[in-house]
Amino acid sequence: MSEHKKILMVICDGMGDRPCESLDGMTPLQRAEAPFMDSLAKNGMSGLMYTVGVGRVPGSDTAHLALLGYDPETTYTGRGPFEAMGAGLEVRPGDVAFRCNFATVDNLGVVLDRRAGRIHEGTEELAKAIDGMRIEDVQVIFKPGVEHRATLLLRGPGLSSHITDADPHADGVKMNHVAATKPDGEKTARILNIFGQKAMAALMKSPVNKGKPRPANAILARGGGAVPHIQLFSERYKMKCAAVVGITLVKGICNFAGLEPIHVKGATGGADTDYDAKAMAAAKALDTHDFVLLHYKAPDLFGHDDNPDGKVKAIEKIDAALGKAFKGREDVVIALTADHSTPCSVKDHSSDPVPLVVSAPWLRKDRVECFDEISAGEGALGTVQGKDLLALLIGCANRAEKFGA
Ligand code: ZN
Ligand code: ZN
Repeated sequence: MSEHKKILMVICDGMGDRPCESLDGMTPLQRAEAPFMDSLAKNGMSGLMYTVGVGRVPGSDTAHLALLGYDPETTYTGRGPFEAMGAGLEVRPGDVAFRCNFATVDNLGVVLDRRAGRIHEGTEELAKAIDGMRIEDVQVIFKPGVEHRATLLLRGPGLSSHITDADPHADGVKMNHVAATKPDGEKTARILNIFGQKAMAALMKSPVNKGKPRPANAILARGGGAVPHIQLFSERYKMKCAAVVGITLVKGICNFAGLEPIHVKGATGGADTDYDAKAMAAAKALDTHDFVLLHYKAPDLFGHDDNPDGKVKAIEKIDAALGKAFKGREDVVIALTADHSTPCSVKDHSSDPVPLVVSAPWLRKDRVECFDEISAGEGALGTVQGKDLLALLIGCANRAEKFGA
């Protein structure tokens, strides 16, 4: 049996794109000067990947679940639990988690501002007025996030995610009365309605809100999801695993799967992140771990902003960082891909497949010489499904078990 090798999975969020007019019909990846990415293509196998299935538009969460080998159809129960995990909350199977906004409502419950004037100070103190409440036999765990965002976790027996949102998703309308969408959601709907009232009463009293034109006097919960039971990544694949990730949502998914989080100073989860420090941290983690996931968020942000030039520059920064950290590294299977396409012309995620390259000195090479959406289509890997990527890499790292005699 050949020696077990290590695996590096680099995911550039939303990197796939479509032809951009301002780039003379090229995609940002085609336009970018990315010598390291191209060297992976030259020395590896390329392909195109549908991360959550043909014709489906991936969310970052469902796509990352798939890339980590979990079936998003059965594992994904709403974004809430993943946000909660990423926010550093310890979540347990059976908990129901929600994404929340601090909001301003009038005394009839009409939402005046879903973001409470984009409140950015005092949310820690506001959250303290809510965190730790008990409603019937349910414990309320509440943690503020960035600006007006927060996470709510309900812990107790008989909870379910089969409920509607309290958040009406618009200003000028009343907060929703939460209702069950299936019979097992009745208790959770009741708890969440009581929570809404109790939170309002607590927030009204807070000194933080005193004299504010847009007081943060209500909590709008949405995207309720029950924390699913899964087998930890490390147990399933018998590998020591780590993740270098800045952004909360993806961090949460990595924590959930049991990847050890590597904290990097300067990793912001944004376009201003320390690209080099993240790549270096991933390279170092590979000395002590079998599998490392390295995630960069920036390309997705520029795609949402319809900023092809920004996307090109972000790709070039990632390329330079990867080159410094991994050039000449011969003991690792390097996979470079994206969780989905975020075409600038769409300003959102699309169903377009993402380019994928897998490279290691002992693996086959195809004739593809550039890493981009068009070249990758001519590669040896052909079309790959996201849920198969991990199995593919495990095989490349000589870790797959024989099927049969
Ligand atoms: Zn994404
Ligand atoms: Zn996105």
